[in-house]
Amino acid sequence: MPEGESQKTKGQPGITQAALFGLCPRCGAKGLWAGPAALAERCSACALEFERHEPRGRGMYLVVLPVTILLVLAALKLDDIIRLPVWALLGLWGVIVPLVVSAALRFAKTIALMARLDKEGLL
Ligand SMILES: [Zn+2]
Repeated sequence: MPEGESQKTKGQPGITQAALFGLCPRCGAKGLWAGPAALAERCSACALEFERHEPRGRGMYLVVLPVTILLVLAALKLDDIIRLPVWALLGLWGVIVPLVVSAALRFAKTIALMARLDKEGLL
């Protein structure tokens, strides 16, 4: 039995670390993301395939839609509290929306990826 096999789960990142820092769910090396919310083809350290397990299509609407609704409600609430000029609103939401949507997609994809890898016994 090779050393480290007994502590297989040690050093593996959790969902939050994997999603936010782009750590490989198996070996913890960086490089899970190829784009803002797109998985890399495979891990550069342990060659674990990511892209093959990437959830695609309509499933992601279930993530994006509630996030969009929450952002719209937040925008309306903010507008009630402080009246910002239009240029400030465009700048503010132009930064917040892509960040929040990417983060939500990263979390959802990481959860799906880890579940699929776990199911196939690759973790
Ligand atoms: Zn890896």
